[in-house]
Amino acid sequence: EYIKNLEAQINDFNPNDSLTISNISQFSQLPISKETLRGLTSAGFVSLTDIQKKSIPVSLKNLDILASARTGSGKTLAFLIPIIEKLYRNQWTEYDGLGALVLSPTRELAMQTYEVLTKIGKYNSFSAGLVMGGKDLKFEKDRIYKMNILIATPGRILQHLDQSAGLDVSNLQILVLDEADRILDMGFKLALDSILNHLPPTRQTLLFSATQTKSITDLARLSLINPQYVDTDNLSN
Ligand code: ADP
Ligand code: MG
Repeated sequence: EYIKNLEAQINDFNPNDSLTISNISQFSQLPISKETLRGLTSAGFVSLTDIQKKSIPVSLKNLDILASARTGSGKTLAFLIPIIEKLYRNQWTEYDGLGALVLSPTRELAMQTYEVLTKIGKYNSFSAGLVMGGKDLKFEKDRIYKMNILIATPGRILQHLDQSAGLDVSNLQILVLDEADRILDMGFKLALDSILNHLPPTRQTLLFSATQTKSITDLARLSLINPQYVDTDNLSN
C-alpha cells in the first residue's frame, strides 16, 4: 500500500514541469521512503536546496540528468537520494549485488560522499563500499565484492573492471558522474569511456558538474536517453 502511494505520487511529477517545481521545499514532501526520510532528518536535513528541488523529482522519474550547479549547492544529496530510492523501489536486497556506481574525481571526494551516504542511508539496509586504491587490488576487491553501492575513482574502478574477476556490474541500475567536468579535466576521458564500455546500457545516468556539462555529452558511451538539463547557475534562479 505504501509503495502504491509512492508510485501515485511519483507519477504526479511531469518532468517537463521540473524546472518550475516550487511547491516542494522540504524532504518530507518528496515521494521517498520513510527510511530515507528518517536518515535525512537524523542528519539534520530538512529543506531542499535549489539543485535538489530541480533535480531530485526528475531523477526519481528514472530520467537521465545533466545537472550543473556551483560548488556548495548540495549536489551530493541530489544524487544520493535518487540512488537509495532507486534501489529501494527495485526492492534491492543485499544479495542483489552492485546496483549503483558513483564516479568521483578524487579519493578525498569519494570519501566525503561515502560518509554522507552512510549517514543518510543508515536506516536502509544496502551495503556500500569505497573504491579508491592505495591498497592491493585483491585486498580491495574482497572488500567491494557484492556491495550494493560503490563510490569510486575512475582509474581504480577501471582496474577492477579489467582485472578483478567476479566484479559483476551486469545489473547496474544507476550510474552517477560527480564533478564530471573535473573528471574530464583530470584526463580521465579514456578511462571513463572504458568504464562505460563495461556497464550495461540500460541504466539511469546522472551527471553532475560545477560548470556547464554539455561538452561531456560527446562521450560516445554515455548513452544518455533524452537527458534533462538542470541548471541553477543563472540569475533567474
Ligand atoms: P556540492 O557537491 O554542490 O559542492 P555538497 O553536496 O558538498 O555541495 O553540499 C555542500 C554543503 O551543504 C554540505 O555541508 C552539505 O551538508 C550541505 N547541504 C547539502 N544539502 C543541504 C540541505 N538540503 N540542507 C542543509 N544543508 C545542506
Ligand atoms: Mg560535490
